[in-house]
Amino acid sequence: MKNTLIIIVGVLICLFIFQPTVDADSGQLYKVNVETLTLRDAPNQSATVLGYLKIGAKVTVFLQSDGWGSTYYNGKEAWVSLNMLEEKNGFPDAAVSGESGKGDPQLITEENEEEEPKAETIQQYKDEKLEELDEKEHTTAGITHKDKNLEGQRKQSGEKTLAGYHFIIDPGHGGKDPGAVRSELYEKTITLSTAKKVDELLRDKGASVTLTRTDDTFIPVEERVQLSNSTTADAFISLHYNTFKDQSISGIDTFYNNVDESQQLAVAIQRSLVNHVKFTNRGSKQASYQVLRENKHPALLIELGFISNPEERKLVRTDTYQEKAAKGIVSGLENYFNND
Ligand SMILES: [Zn+2]
Repeated sequence: MKNTLIIIVGVLICLFIFQPTVDADSGQLYKVNVETLTLRDAPNQSATVLGYLKIGAKVTVFLQSDGWGSTYYNGKEAWVSLNMLEEKNGFPDAAVSGESGKGDPQLITEENEEEEPKAETIQQYKDEKLEELDEKEHTTAGITHKDKNLEGQRKQSGEKTLAGYHFIIDPGHGGKDPGAVRSELYEKTITLSTAKKVDELLRDKGASVTLTRTDDTFIPVEERVQLSNSTTADAFISLHYNTFKDQSISGIDTFYNNVDESQQLAVAIQRSLVNHVKFTNRGSKQASYQVLRENKHPALLIELGFISNPEERKLVRTDTYQEKAAKGIVSGLENYFNND
């Protein structure tokens, strides 16, 4: 126990010392291409102004959301309009659409308007390290075993454990927005096939389900949120697959925005998912994605593995993997909604 504490403190100190490295290494580098760029505290034109940058200044963008990018300014999270920026590095997914997307800000705002949580912000990185430590400490604490037992009992009895519940399942991307693409694997294709498996399992459990798309159609993020807000859903779950420029990065993340039910649901689903698919547990984390932030219902965005990681790319495209992931999500929902 004492050793664990020493390790935690050590890791925190290291994280503090190495912050700038994590920072500079994980985002996408842009250059300001207007006279003055405004930094705001939220991704919208009426948000509070935090400061300004001059033409030519470099900006590292971590998260992208609806034409806005998040960065850090004087130690605070700040948002900039991506239309005012020019890309510095190659944009890895741009080549996929067959257009000469290089340096075209349109491509960022339209094709990637749904936020891709490829950014490892400093906070996320810290959370991940802490959760990893937390996991190690608790592997024998019986938490995961308890969940497995519960699940076993329910499977045997074939109970309609989610009868009366309504879920919205949101396959990320679609149509002109392929999401991440690696080696001819399109994120939009596997988010849809996974969502259909989740849909089927949920119906087996007696739940009603709304899918935000059932085919390869482009649906703007606002519409996905509107659909959720116009119903009495018990939860909204957006499915994604992740990418990162470092191919060795792997694992599953579950994002939430509201620190209430959404956070608790995120913890339940993340735990169940990792138990089912045996991928690295990157933890549940708070993120300000529009699809979560503006949702009236408990809402999650799950990154079900990295298609930039060659091993995970091979697995995540298979029915076997997607079925396991679907079971993990549904068991997580059962654990959460039957433990009130
Ligand atoms: Zn995605």
